[in-house]
Amino acid sequence: MIIIMKPDASTEAINNVVSIVREQGLDTHLSHGHEVTIIGVVGDKTVLADKNLEIAEGVDRIVSVTESYKLANKKFHPEPTVVKVGNTAIGGDNLVIMSGPCAVESAEQVLETAIAIKKAGARILRGGAYKPRTSPYSFQGMEEDGLRLMKEAKDATGLPVVCEVTSQSAVEAAVKYVDMLQIGARNMQNFFLLKEVGKTGLPVLLKRGLSATIDEWLNAAEYILAEGNPNVVLCERGIRTFETATRNTLDLSAVPVIRAKSHLPIIVDPSHATGVRDYVEPLAMAGVAAGADGLMIETHPCPEKALSDGPQSLTFSQFEELCDKLRPLASLMGKTLA
Ligand code: PEP
Ligand code: MN
Repeated sequence: MIIIMKPDASTEAINNVVSIVREQGLDTHLSHGHEVTIIGVVGDKTVLADKNLEIAEGVDRIVSVTESYKLANKKFHPEPTVVKVGNTAIGGDNLVIMSGPCAVESAEQVLETAIAIKKAGARILRGGAYKPRTSPYSFQGMEEDGLRLMKEAKDATGLPVVCEVTSQSAVEAAVKYVDMLQIGARNMQNFFLLKEVGKTGLPVLLKRGLSATIDEWLNAAEYILAEGNPNVVLCERGIRTFETATRNTLDLSAVPVIRAKSHLPIIVDPSHATGVRDYVEPLAMAGVAAGADGLMIETHPCPEKALSDGPQSLTFSQFEELCDKLRPLASLMGKTLA
């Protein structure tokens, strides 16, 4: 980071800032310009977090030149990370499709879905047992009963399962049943929850927050990684913009940007990005073309009757058609779709 001093900063003020930085064991490089003095700081600037340097006498502003996330940073880990979820690897040569209902509703619904999506080419079953809904009056999920049904579908089909967790008690329950924990968009900056899922060591699917920058998203990943859990997969699921024709706006540029900045795998969720069934296929194709390691697609045996996100859920035949279209595109991108 660099500290830019005010044009009228006194020598005393400059020396004071330099000594605060050096007292923390960091190096300083001073550059005395015509008008301002710039103090370059080398080392782990987190030790300065509680020093309030931005309000020290004579300081104009502080500019960060290296990203605050380290473990998620490609500079610190140039090789791409491959995350194993059960026997499925995300981030390697496979295009991994996760699919299933928005919410677990019944044993039949989950099992029927697991069988259909596996046949079509999906390698991970998704299904929400804890649903963070905008309205408190909407269906909130089957909780632990739902997790149990996901585990039964896993045992019946061999598909690993991913479920969202929304609280510490949900994490405690989920670790007994699932292969991967999902942090939803609304909890991307729930730092306590990020630490909790980090401690489990289970793979984590970290969705991008509705209004999170890529930098904030990677810092959220850093929370999980800092707990000693290297198994993080990022999921771009659309961000909030002024556009209302779709539920969110899919930020496909996040895929190459994440590739440039991080070693973590990234998947795309065109279902939550658009909220509209007809737009899922083109954006799933676009996600693969942008270089995503996988996709998350909501499916339901009967979308009209779904308790949540029916309008964006594909029928099984639509999902199968989509997988068939994705296969040649995946191979063009150097990936294999089961
Ligand atoms: C979900 O995957 O069902 C979900 C709620 O997604 P998001 O957190 O991206 O809205
Ligand atoms: Mn959903």
